[in-house]
Amino acid sequence: MSTGADRRLDCPSAQPEMAGARVLGVVERGPEGVRLAYAAGQVPVTAEVLDVAGAVPPTLVYRFAAPCAAERCTHFDGSRCRLAQRIVAGLDPAVDRLPACAIRPSCRWYAEQGAGACHRCPSVVTRMEEADPALMEIAGLPA
Ligand code: SF4
Repeated sequence: MSTGADRRLDCPSAQPEMAGARVLGVVERGPEGVRLAYAAGQVPVTAEVLDVAGAVPPTLVYRFAAPCAAERCTHFDGSRCRLAQRIVAGLDPAVDRLPACAIRPSCRWYAEQGAGACHRCPSVVTRMEEADPALMEIAGLPA
């Protein structure tokens, strides 16, 4: 499995204001918890997209993908994403098939962790304020 350190990879849990950000999917909440409804293609982050969120932070409504910030991100250890490692190690799979995801060829989590990342990805939320305690711990935040 590639570390991806030598090529441009995307973060699948990015912020909308990051350069090159696109909509990865829409966060849906149901009886099983959070599930991401993946965008069918590369959806740019526009004012219209952000307006849908209204007064709510966009990261409660969407997940965004953007070029990995690498050394500028606290999760990056110099060659790999520690958040992806912790997600695969600490979260139960949410699905048993690869989600139909537009960024897989460039996704850092997939490049480093393989299908295990994709099986857990739908239950990940970028905005940790609403995450369950297990996800907060995985993100390195106090529960
Ligand atoms: S489904 Fe897999 S390839 Fe797509 S963003 Fe999530 S981890 Fe990356």
